[in-house]
Amino acid sequence: FSQSEMPRANAPGFNLEHIEHSNWLLEKTNALVEKQYQSYSLINGEAHTGAAKPLHSPANTQLILGEVVEADEKAIESAVTSACLSQAAWNNLGGERRALILEKIGELLEVNYAELVSLISREAGRTLNDGISEVREAIDFCHYYAASSRQHFVIPTSLTGPTGEVNELSLHGRGVFVCISPWNFPLAIFVGQVAAALVAGNCVIAKPAEQTPLVAAFTVNLMHQAGVPKEVLQLLIGDGAAIGKHLLSDPRIAGVAFTGSTETARIINLQLAQKPGPIVPFIAETGGMNAMIACSSALPEQLVDDVVTSAFLSAGQRCSALRVLFLQNDIADRTIELLKGACDELRLGNPWELNTDMGPVIDADALKLLTDHMEKMHAQAKVLYQYDSAKVPQDGYFFGPQIVELKNLAQLEREVFGPVLHIVRYKTNELEQVVEQINASGYGLTLGVHTRVESMAKKIFRLARVGNTYVNRNMVGAVVGVNPFGGQGLSGTGPKAGGPLYVRRFATERTYTNNV
Ligand code: GLU
Repeated sequence: FSQSEMPRANAPGFNLEHIEHSNWLLEKTNALVEKQYQSYSLINGEAHTGAAKPLHSPANTQLILGEVVEADEKAIESAVTSACLSQAAWNNLGGERRALILEKIGELLEVNYAELVSLISREAGRTLNDGISEVREAIDFCHYYAASSRQHFVIPTSLTGPTGEVNELSLHGRGVFVCISPWNFPLAIFVGQVAAALVAGNCVIAKPAEQTPLVAAFTVNLMHQAGVPKEVLQLLIGDGAAIGKHLLSDPRIAGVAFTGSTETARIINLQLAQKPGPIVPFIAETGGMNAMIACSSALPEQLVDDVVTSAFLSAGQRCSALRVLFLQNDIADRTIELLKGACDELRLGNPWELNTDMGPVIDADALKLLTDHMEKMHAQAKVLYQYDSAKVPQDGYFFGPQIVELKNLAQLEREVFGPVLHIVRYKTNELEQVVEQINASGYGLTLGVHTRVESMAKKIFRLARVGNTYVNRNMVGAVVGVNPFGGQGLSGTGPKAGGPLYVRRFATERTYTNNV
């Protein structure tokens, strides 16, 4: 089958507006409130023990979720050594057997749906709806990459050649892949990277964000249960810089997949360039200075709804989130008034409660960056809206939505990772300059467009150097197989997660020529 015909169906979710759905989920998640979790590095499936540190919830610093033990140099060394020794057998298992294991992981994620949603909300501060979409996405990655494996890794591609000669092209695992995943999608991105690397025939050293080790450890256990050999998938828990220093200078590492900040991607890239041994691929999905352009033909209610979803849900902590809204002058004042009203309606609170729209930001550092940014905005720009501080919970790292007006996008020096929306007004004849500003930022992840004029949307799409353009809808929540996700420039090296070619980027190509 061709790439667009890959057999697939996305996982079903829950609709929390249906009382049976929400009751089912809440009954299960509430029963887990007291449960304590442990997160150790898993070296050949064995817990690496040592001094344990408590981990608290970003929504409530008094709420201890469990314990975490950080990997030491010895654990890193054993993980790489065992993974290296088991890679040939894993690669030889073939694309079909690996696809079956991925599908089993998908099934186990489904069986553990409620517990995963609960853990995601407590550990990462994500709302129940965010947790639900994340479990769906993780399941989708497993099934989609299993289908990709059958497409790319089972039967070699026959190539034409001189009469009497057989020519074939086939794909193989590269060796030991390091997967470094972020806290903002502690399950979906973690599973997506690991599943793609594994199914392509690599062994994996998974290094989840230090803020979300519990979701990762829980998931690796499920992956082992599903049949991924314990030597093939190793888990390292701990501080990124400390682990990275040893791990990324190891000549046996054959590739790295990373999702996180542009600054960290640069550091990793430098470490990989300096390490001894082979030159290895680096798959990076980093930040964005994502814009939305709304022209005067936009439908006001839909525009406001999509801006709120794109800028504020998940507390603005998505790489894809809207940072700068370009509003055509004619609709600017009205849209801003509607946006302020919509922000007042957003409820901040415990993410595991049904009526919460926005949970906390991830930690004290994130909160400080946002507070500092707003201080600067008060001095250098026009703050249009601040959420009522009396409605901001005080138990955790909460930060209410804010709206700031800027003269142009260049006033923002770096990505602001949280619920701050920046607005720039533009005149009818300035559309091209708007796109130039967006391109000049150097980032290129997502772009929103609201217009009823199809030719305008197409023109913007042609001119803007971004990975994902969304017209007349919100610009977050890319669906596996539907909106393959990834950007360009400062936003990453390009491979599209959840796209038909993604798993190939984790493999190496070989040709076989036989003059029979
Ligand atoms: N794929 C996610 C989305 O479309 C964003 C991923 C990220 O934040 O890294 O919302």
